[in-house]
Amino acid sequence: MRLQGKVALVTGAGQGIGRAIAMRLADEGADIIVEDRLDSDSAERTLREVESRGRRGAVIAGDVGRAADDRHVIEAGVSRFGHIDILVNNAGVERRAEFCDVSEADYDLVLNVNLKGAFFVTQAFVRQLRDGQRPGRVINISSVHEELPFPHFTSYCASKGGMKMMMRNLAIELAPLGITVNNVAPGAIETPINASLLGNPELLSALRGKIPLRRLGKPGDVAAAVAYLASDDAGYVTGTTLVVDGGLLWNYSEQ
Ligand code: NAD
Repeated sequence: MRLQGKVALVTGAGQGIGRAIAMRLADEGADIIVEDRLDSDSAERTLREVESRGRRGAVIAGDVGRAADDRHVIEAGVSRFGHIDILVNNAGVERRAEFCDVSEADYDLVLNVNLKGAFFVTQAFVRQLRDGQRPGRVINISSVHEELPFPHFTSYCASKGGMKMMMRNLAIELAPLGITVNNVAPGAIETPINASLLGNPELLSALRGKIPLRRLGKPGDVAAAVAYLASDDAGYVTGTTLVVDGGLLWNYSEQ
């Protein structure tokens, strides 16, 4: 129960890693703002999971790719809970295409959700901390692809690489406000974003062969790392990436 009395906002918390983070932070004692797209029908399920743990929660919907929505989500969260202490920028999308075939619409979608979204949710979050003179935690769910090239996913890699430098910059700029900023970089995790991979036994077995721990990660593996970074245990940790990948990243780098 390291987060008792804290309020956490998790973007893209309707399913996958975001839902697991919401549940884990609730297990640690935090009240949870469940953010997801306006058309998400799964955010309410996450909210029920939070409430079943005896915590308070609320669904506040918005498209993180729109700065006006981001300001609204933070304002509505503060008006509901009084303050927000922990922000987890988890919402993310990917689109596969050969470089010459990437459409402007897909590029905009990936960059808007993954990078612009994290940027402007964080800006609105930091403004309310600054105005209330409160410390805070920002945790971005990036990816091993903040480091590792992934051909045919260039927009995605650009967004996650951008998230890495955004995190490093903000760690320095926001330290005087008592705000830490870190990334969690998952490897291959069993979530709906990987539905086609999970349904392909040959690809799955080839991937497992590249992971030193020989299994894909569970959403809970990522959530445990987020809980650590959100807690007092990580009070002296800022400007870094915690990789949660079963050893995948460095195994690739060796090849
Ligand atoms: P997912 O597709 O299962 O869930 C993503 C969530 O984000 C969904 O609930 C979706 O509705 C929400 N979302 C999408 N667009 C949004 C928008 N515009 N506004 C608000 N919410 C939006 O994916 P996941 O696997 O749980 O991924 C979560 C994060 O982890 C992403 O940032 C992803 O890039 C990252 N990640 C995942 C893996 C993996 O293997 N699953 C690996 C590395 C990094």
